[in-house]
Amino acid sequence: MIDAQRLEALRLLDAYPRRGLTIRRGEGMYLEDDRGRRFLDMMSNYGVSILGHNHPAIVEALTEQLRTLGSLHGSFAGEIRARAAAALLDRCGGGLGKVFFANSGSEANEAALKFAVLATGRKRFVAFRNGFHGKTLGALSATDGDAYRAPFEPLLWQFAFAPYGGAEGLEMIDDRTAGVIVEPIQGEGGVRIPPPFFLAGLAKACAVSGAVLILDEIQTGLGRTGRFLASSAEVPEPDIVTLGKGLAGGVPAGAVLLSERISRAIPRKIHTSTFGGNPLAAAGLLAVLSVLTDDFLQRIECRGRALAERLRAVASDEIVDIRGKGLMIGAEVRSERDAILRLLQRERVLAIPAGPGVVRFLPPYIVEEGQMEDAVRAFEAALAAIRRDREFSAAEGAGCAVS
Ligand code: PLP
Repeated sequence: MIDAQRLEALRLLDAYPRRGLTIRRGEGMYLEDDRGRRFLDMMSNYGVSILGHNHPAIVEALTEQLRTLGSLHGSFAGEIRARAAAALLDRCGGGLGKVFFANSGSEANEAALKFAVLATGRKRFVAFRNGFHGKTLGALSATDGDAYRAPFEPLLWQFAFAPYGGAEGLEMIDDRTAGVIVEPIQGEGGVRIPPPFFLAGLAKACAVSGAVLILDEIQTGLGRTGRFLASSAEVPEPDIVTLGKGLAGGVPAGAVLLSERISRAIPRKIHTSTFGGNPLAAAGLLAVLSVLTDDFLQRIECRGRALAERLRAVASDEIVDIRGKGLMIGAEVRSERDAILRLLQRERVLAIPAGPGVVRFLPPYIVEEGQMEDAVRAFEAALAAIRRDREFSAAEGAGCAVS
């Protein structure tokens, strides 16, 4: 049997933090490793596997599509792509009239930024501290954080970073601003929820100054927070929305949704993609949309509330805050975040980091009560182990001081 971890370490660029697990297969809420151990997936592969693993609707749609037509450039019309675009726009509503298909979240944001420049003739942007929009050059220009940016400065155009959730951002928007790019809830930045009317205020300021508001719903969209788009209550008629992650059931895909007004400013050929809107992604997208009915989204909200309540009921001094919306939940902890993630993994539960001190739970939407209980029990056990460790170290330290 191939030792995948060893071979990857040898042959893949060492670009990712490694979890020390080789995953063989997925089924529903579980991932199975090469030793046959089952792990409860409370992170949906960083938000991608929103319907769990091997969802029958997706497996069937992709298999059928691959038998029919696996690839089709955007210069040819294709029924599956046409249906996928129409269904996605229908589902989003809000006057969004056109879609551009990309292949990832970063790519969708790249395109959105270019579209804002084309629509306004301006090149200044407002983005937010702790915001994350991807690591390709354009998306990175909008992403905060020296660790990612410093080696590549100067980055593109002019991006000014405002505190997330405050009024300062509004003051930075004027008639030289091409666009404002914002996450409705910051994901990578620590599951941060802005105060009410923050997005509405940005939308208004953009409308007044002729700037384009880009709502990055790559993590929050597609029902993650219990609504199809997390921003729709505050921004009912958006300029641009970007989507990615679970958009196509695990096939790499991203999308830029544009209002008719913005779409009229984008000339043909200026931005295209060989793979964008390929039939596999389109088939995956239609399958995802067929599952994400209004009733289904309502269940996400209920499950999210139940999970957050259970996490809040954990009595531990290690917890600073439990926050989130729908099934996007962050547990801010006093102790070392990565140690907790490792301990969770030892308990066969997979979660991911968010920001410096936050453990992030992004479970597939199919998560059941019992699985949430298992996850919370594992979290409790991880915190208890951390506490025991700390008490042990403190006792040892005291011992040293005496001797
Ligand atoms: N925008 C947000 C809000 C994200 O969370 C991410 C990825 O985590 C991205 C953009 C980048 O997406 P991708 O990794 O598919 O390029």
